[in-house]
Amino acid sequence: MRIESVQGDITTQGVDAIVNAANSSLLGGGGVDGAIHAAAGPELLDACRELRRTTLPDGLPVGDAVATPGFRLPARWVLHTVGPNRHRGQTDPVLLASCFARPLELAVELGASSVAFPAVSAGVYGWALDDVARIAVGTVHAWQSSTDPEGGVELVRFVLFSSAALDAFRTELG
Ligand code: ADP
Repeated sequence: MRIESVQGDITTQGVDAIVNAANSSLLGGGGVDGAIHAAAGPELLDACRELRRTTLPDGLPVGDAVATPGFRLPARWVLHTVGPNRHRGQTDPVLLASCFARPLELAVELGASSVAFPAVSAGVYGWALDDVARIAVGTVHAWQSSTDPEGGVELVRFVLFSSAALDAFRTELG
């Protein structure tokens, strides 16, 4: 499995699945969530509303993930995850690690072989970039060494909006 980092906009990535840093409501927000909904089209919000109506009436728990189609995105799937919000006292790194592990599990279930991640929780949710980069890269490395190297996810790409975020991830990736 290849792990890489690039600076850019996650909505334009030609991968099988992109990860959304959503909120528990799944009903849209700012930052990367707003950009993904804008690019995917209104069908994405409809799909999220349907999830709330059916399997997730109380919303998506922090650290969990759920898949929808990508609709008008180049990516076939959006894997929505909810990062811990430091401003609400959610400081447990295990919760943030789960935001990188759960989407990879979903990708395997869906047959998605390339997955792009943003810096979950590094925006409005207030985690330091260095901490997000360390936890994200550590989690993907651990997942890589615990899974079958044949088949499954072949590419993990971290897509960072700022050069500071790219630097933080490059430092961790070595
Ligand atoms: P959170 O609420 O989980 O902190 P945010 O969307 O506020 O999520 O920010 C997460 C990260 O995503 C931040 O580093 C932000 O700069 C970045 N980001 C915002 N828009 C995009 C985009 N279109 N593509 C990739 N990353 C983005």
